[in-house]
Amino acid sequence: LRRRLIAANWKMNKSIREAEDFAREFLQLIPDANSNERPEIVICPPFTTLSTLKSITEDYGVKLGAQNAFWEEKGAYTGEISPSMLLDAACSYVILGHSERRQIMGESNNIINRKVKAAVEAGIIPLLCVGETLQEREKDRAREVVKEQLVKCLKDIKLSGEKLVVAYEPVWAIGTGVNASSDDAQEMIAFIRSCLEKIYSREEADLTRIIYGGSVKEENIAEFLGEADVDGALIGGASLQAESLARIVRLS
Ligand code: 13P
Repeated sequence: LRRRLIAANWKMNKSIREAEDFAREFLQLIPDANSNERPEIVICPPFTTLSTLKSITEDYGVKLGAQNAFWEEKGAYTGEISPSMLLDAACSYVILGHSERRQIMGESNNIINRKVKAAVEAGIIPLLCVGETLQEREKDRAREVVKEQLVKCLKDIKLSGEKLVVAYEPVWAIGTGVNASSDDAQEMIAFIRSCLEKIYSREEADLTRIIYGGSVKEENIAEFLGEADVDGALIGGASLQAESLARIVRLS
């Protein structure tokens, strides 16, 4: 029903040369593109390495994603990049609503909503991140926060379930080495699916891939993927080394 998805979020890491080296090594280590054992693979590098990676990955069926986009199509918006530019740079996906952008760049649900809308209109699949902070979890507000993020970020956006990916990334699990338990991930991801059912429909919710992110590594990937509703992973730190990402792909 839903194809597994392994997405790498490189964040602000790697020079052009490093990206090139990564790609050459990684492509040697993963199963063939037409092997049905292979999950869908998406690499989300910094903008500056997209064109290098495009030329190396396109023949291998590895897809590219960006880590941010603006909501306007073009014009006087110094420093911004539009979804149609990303399409032009061979991106099929764009990460939106990542907690680092919410917290460090102050992106609100309203801003993320505009970006998701623009991405959908341009034909790029948003990889929408949601997740609670430790404080919110301790106050037993995790579900409420995640639901609000979904409702606000997807407000007035018509889309089919295949054209959306949601990543559940509890903030306290990002880059900390403390991953959520697979039970916690399953529970929240099933809840996210029920929210999508209310926003869209049962059919669309069943088609939407919902993945987990936060300290995923080769030692714990199998456990997450063993859960019924977990359709893949969004991986930060462990995606920076070709060998480690390739091992995760082979276990998926
Ligand atoms: P880590 O895998 O480094 O915890 O990062 C997760 C993340 O933020 C992916 O978007």
